[in-house]
Amino acid sequence: MIYVRKKAGPLDIYKYLPKINCKKCGEKTCMAFSSQLIERKVELKDCPHLKRESFKALEEILAPAVREVVFGKPTVSVGGEKVLYRHELTYFNQTAIAIDIHDEMGKEELSKRIEFVNNFAHERIGETLTLQAIAIRNRSGDVEKFDKCVEETAKQTKKALILCSWNSEALDKALRIVGDKKPLVYAATKNTWKEVGELAVKYNCPVVAFADNDISELKSVVNALQRMGINDIVIDPGSHLDSCTLNNFVMLRRSATNEDKVLNRPILGIPAAVYLQSGDGLKEAMAASLMMAKYADLIILHNIEIWALLPNITLRQNLYTDPRRPVRVEAGLKEFGSPDENSPVLLTTNFALTYYTVASDIESAKVDCYLIVLDTNGIGVEAAVAGRQLSASRVKKVIDETGIEKKIRHKKMVIPGLAARISGELEQLSGWKVLIGPKDSSEIGRFIERER
Ligand code: SF4
Repeated sequence: MIYVRKKAGPLDIYKYLPKINCKKCGEKTCMAFSSQLIERKVELKDCPHLKRESFKALEEILAPAVREVVFGKPTVSVGGEKVLYRHELTYFNQTAIAIDIHDEMGKEELSKRIEFVNNFAHERIGETLTLQAIAIRNRSGDVEKFDKCVEETAKQTKKALILCSWNSEALDKALRIVGDKKPLVYAATKNTWKEVGELAVKYNCPVVAFADNDISELKSVVNALQRMGINDIVIDPGSHLDSCTLNNFVMLRRSATNEDKVLNRPILGIPAAVYLQSGDGLKEAMAASLMMAKYADLIILHNIEIWALLPNITLRQNLYTDPRRPVRVEAGLKEFGSPDENSPVLLTTNFALTYYTVASDIESAKVDCYLIVLDTNGIGVEAAVAGRQLSASRVKKVIDETGIEKKIRHKKMVIPGLAARISGELEQLSGWKVLIGPKDSSEIGRFIERER
């Protein structure tokens, strides 16, 4: 029996590798390959010399603490996380967000909600944030109505589907229509695990195990499904706006990272249930943010008002940004508006959040200008000055590299207020006049106006 260590380091992996540095995997050494395996940038099959036993041992070592479950076509992956805290490694699969619809909605409302999910896209720091799935609820309890709603929805969307019914007959009929799209089937309970499990096997679809605020009952439902040969299981411990719900989420994720082999499953949170219990969109939004922060791998929302959605998709983006790699943009010379030889030249760093804030402030101030984006490895202005990624010599170098001097008649540069301390040295090194700009880029428009 191999001891499974979740936070395996490169050395733990290296000892199973052939150690011949043949480079056939695309890496220079077996040690480099082992580091890339941890990062999930290469796969075990990329090494042609791995022996069967080593392959199996490494598969077990590298298996994520939380099993990954894939549903929908195109696919949505949930779970697959290795660590409890993001800073221990990183999180890999962001919380998938589904919006609910139900079989008592009028045609128009149904189409409107589906269209909203299809088209929802929000650009933030260079990333397009979207919604991943539609959860279809059998609110009527009627098999035919659910059937029709599922059929209609499938016609109108390519998003992944979650089929939600307590009635296995309704699920069966719906799966006859959309089983090939690999929907997530909701839900197997202590009373229905057999029928719902059989459907999951028959249609080869992942399934949700549900037990309301009862972890041992949840465990026995998962066990029963596992005994039927089902491995793609998502767990729903019930969603309420109370501390029990969060306790359950935390307990489940802790046990997964402590190598629980039953409850090591992606967690489903349903803030929509909070909405239905309270009729309060704000409470639902709060539940969603708490659930995402505390390990929900998939959530179902009801309220699609933008004030509720935006903070949560922004939070999700922040949670799932790799803490080891600051988000960055391409460095170089950017032009805003129609700059000419007299236009101002500004400087910033390539930390994405800084860049997009500065860019949007320049755009809203309608300033025609050049912006030099210095490569600081994605570090913001103040920290980059402290760490010397933003120094007078580096700015001088980027002035030469960008060829900005050929585009302008003046030699004046506005540097961020937070980089004021490099101004003297920069003037000496570059021969440019350095203006210390505002600390807050929202002041750029007024600053440029004053300097004209
Ligand atoms: Fe090492 Fe295998 Fe990569 Fe060759 S292919 S360098 S043996 S890991």
